[in-house]
Amino acid sequence: MGKNGEGCAIGIDLGTTYSCVAVWKEQQGRVEIIQNEQGNKITPSFVAFTDDQRLIGHDAKNQAATNPENTVFDAKRLIGRKHSDSIIKNDMMLWPFKVIAGVDDKPMIVVKYHGKEKHLFAEEISSMVLTKMRQIAEAYLESPVKNAVITVPAYFNDSQRKATIDAGTIAGLNVKRIINEPTAAAIAYGLDKRTNCEEERSIFIFDLGGGTFDVSLLKIKGKDFKVQATAGNTHLGGEDFDNRMVEYFVEEFKRKNKLDMTGNSKALRRLRSACERAKRTLSCTTCTTVEVDSLFQGIDFCSLITRARFEELNMVMFRECIATVDKCLNDAKIDKSSVHDVVLVGGSSRIPKVQELLQEFFNGKDLCKSINPDEAVAYGAAVQAALLSGGIKDVPNLVLLDVTPLSLGIFTVGDIMSVLIPRNTTIPVKKTKSFHTKLDNQTRGKIVVYEGERAKASDNNLLGSFILYGFPPAPRGHPFDVCFSIDENGILTVSAEIKSTGSKNEITITNDKGRLSTQEIKRLIQEAERFQAEDKKFLRKANAMNSLDEYIYKMRKALKNDYINAKLSSEEKEKISSAITKVTNLLDGGNSQKDEIEVLEDYVKKLQHMFKCIIGKIDLFFSFY
Ligand code: AMP
Repeated sequence: MGKNGEGCAIGIDLGTTYSCVAVWKEQQGRVEIIQNEQGNKITPSFVAFTDDQRLIGHDAKNQAATNPENTVFDAKRLIGRKHSDSIIKNDMMLWPFKVIAGVDDKPMIVVKYHGKEKHLFAEEISSMVLTKMRQIAEAYLESPVKNAVITVPAYFNDSQRKATIDAGTIAGLNVKRIINEPTAAAIAYGLDKRTNCEEERSIFIFDLGGGTFDVSLLKIKGKDFKVQATAGNTHLGGEDFDNRMVEYFVEEFKRKNKLDMTGNSKALRRLRSACERAKRTLSCTTCTTVEVDSLFQGIDFCSLITRARFEELNMVMFRECIATVDKCLNDAKIDKSSVHDVVLVGGSSRIPKVQELLQEFFNGKDLCKSINPDEAVAYGAAVQAALLSGGIKDVPNLVLLDVTPLSLGIFTVGDIMSVLIPRNTTIPVKKTKSFHTKLDNQTRGKIVVYEGERAKASDNNLLGSFILYGFPPAPRGHPFDVCFSIDENGILTVSAEIKSTGSKNEITITNDKGRLSTQEIKRLIQEAERFQAEDKKFLRKANAMNSLDEYIYKMRKALKNDYINAKLSSEEKEKISSAITKVTNLLDGGNSQKDEIEVLEDYVKKLQHMFKCIIGKIDLFFSFY
């Protein structure tokens, strides 16, 4: 329980392919990675829709092959982006589900639910995954959970961070802090090695997950963690390795059978699952088989793949990972020999070739693998959550300093990007810069805010704009100040002021980048509640139908048993038979009745009563069953 009586605060690693939730156990003084109902510590970030229910996590992933168009994954790739984004255009070709452009070019995921077409924001899908993670924690803690720390890739821009907070809000969570995944891993690592570390240590975090790749250089001194530099690729990870293998086998299938399965989403999905399994196996063995029964047009597929072939298929991407490591160290102006520890994070960091190349790059240095790479991020997030809610007493109060992933600045004359906050600046941060009007008697000025590394402002990513009014009549060159302020969540507020007149204006970057409006969030929260109510209704109905089915089965069996048959009067037998017929018809009738749940539950009660009466009459009934 947190100090403020708000219940435990949890840490959630909201991953592209898998998510993980953890909590700080105050009594034991350690982090617990929480298992889901299947006993797994990671849960697929999948949501599926069917004619009668919504599924999240394992259940959603498990039925993906039979319902590919309505099984949504990779929402993290869409969150905070525009539909016209070239990255999304490429991704769409691999997704079996449909994505269309919504208002303001926001991507909308199209699914069929309860027989009707439904359009969903990526934030909604992520909120469903977050709801699942919250429920997993609540089941384990046996109490409601409200507060959470959620992690995002270090490379996430402002819009993606805000969209993640929105997803948390829709899931009914109070997002206490958004932290970078590598930073969370560093916290986990710092806790693990909690010694008196008074001299500064440079820690390199290598995080290769399912969909994203992040590297960060951190400096740890005493209890201070400082991110020196980050680099990465929001589109590189285990899924890409799976896709390479899929392409390889699609070609092989084409060669062997003269059939092209491209475009058949079900076949591709089944092949992808088999490839993912093979990839994991190849991390511990040097050869494995990929086998899929009746893969395409009834043809079974079985093929061998060696670790060497897998490495060859992906070598370009593995090398790109190492080039990114080099870039990060260059940005931080640090020589690789000065790095004290190299920490592996993310499931794909288990790939032996990746480890080999990384170790080689760091001149043979041993890599830190002591923390489970799938769990390190959630571990750190849970520690941070406990720190923020006062739940940790015996741990040094770690000071976390994150950095801005991209440079931030404004448009100036000649389409020049005038940077106020350079990339890799520690946050929170506030910077003010003076600018001058460019025209005589200029009455107003437009402040256009960009993020990115390009010198030409319009080549960067537009974050938003606003007008500063109230310039006094004056020749060109009248001064005004622009101030950029980033809070601890990485959220940017830009303000401008004309000192001579006191005129001010500001924006917190919001809707310009397609963030959901407050009204929309409210609507989505209600929608999420509706989804939950529908899920509950479905479960209630399914439970009632199951009970009826079971009673009918038992009663039919009872009627067929000579001993029991002899004990029942013909009137009783008729009553039972008629109940069986009625209920069988009811179950076969499906969804036609309006008040079906109540009707079904009513019948459950009736059958229960009838069954009890039979048991009451027959002493040996229990031994019969
Ligand atoms: P994460 O996003 O960190 O949960 O990483 C998930 C990714 O790691 C998925 O693409 C998995 O296929 C991959 N992965 C997990 N275990 C292994 C393994 N033993 N070898 C190779 N890749 C793995």
